[in-house]
Amino acid sequence: MTINRELLLPLILLILLGAACLYLPVKYFGDYRYYSELDSSGIKTDGTIINRGILLDGKFTSTDKTEPSDRQLFKIEYYSINTEKRVCDLSVSKKVFDTHPLNDRLEILYLESDNKKCFIPENVHSMYLLSLILNCFGFLFILIFIAFAFFIYNSFKKRKNPVNLSSEFLSPGENILCPECGNVMVEGYIPGVGGINWRERNEPVGLPNMITGLPGTIFWRKRPILHAFNCKQCAVVTFKYKKK
Ligand SMILES: [Zn+2]
Repeated sequence: MTINRELLLPLILLILLGAACLYLPVKYFGDYRYYSELDSSGIKTDGTIINRGILLDGKFTSTDKTEPSDRQLFKIEYYSINTEKRVCDLSVSKKVFDTHPLNDRLEILYLESDNKKCFIPENVHSMYLLSLILNCFGFLFILIFIAFAFFIYNSFKKRKNPVNLSSEFLSPGENILCPECGNVMVEGYIPGVGGINWRERNEPVGLPNMITGLPGTIFWRKRPILHAFNCKQCAVVTFKYKKK
């Protein structure tokens, strides 16, 4: 059996899935917790735009002209519950940036524990839902990863008993001779991966596919295990296809 070659593709898929499993929760679980707290216990208040600009290399630069690809930012002055004067950063879209001049009043939402950042209240719930959906996908990827890893482990686990054949030659104990060299062939099985199609020499090829295969070689749930004999020297395999 060519185990190494057969393992290559599933292992690459498993590694990609594993990376996705790690990436989504690591990247978005913090966001989920943050927006969830903001959505449930954020404080709403009114603030005044005291500066408008963009983030350039992580630093605020005051400007009126921005491109849609810029990160537009307002500096908002507001008063906390105990009337302490504060300033927070409000990240906005270009559309919001262009429609709110300096000294305009805006409703904001902030967390007392992180009061240098603030948000437009209407946006917070959708950001919370988006981070929740991304985390659900992360959780789903973890479940698929476990199921897939278990499936691969099970497929390569050493067998205690011989496999159950879905087709069988009439006299399974008897030796079958190779039609080319006449030597005794090695008994084994062909695990079906799709229908095996058959044509006589003068028949057109048509559109062979997995549902037009020989009886017993097609499968929906249980893979056919076809009783077969192999002569490796001549590269000849003979197999039984109709179900037992
Ligand atoms: Zn042979």
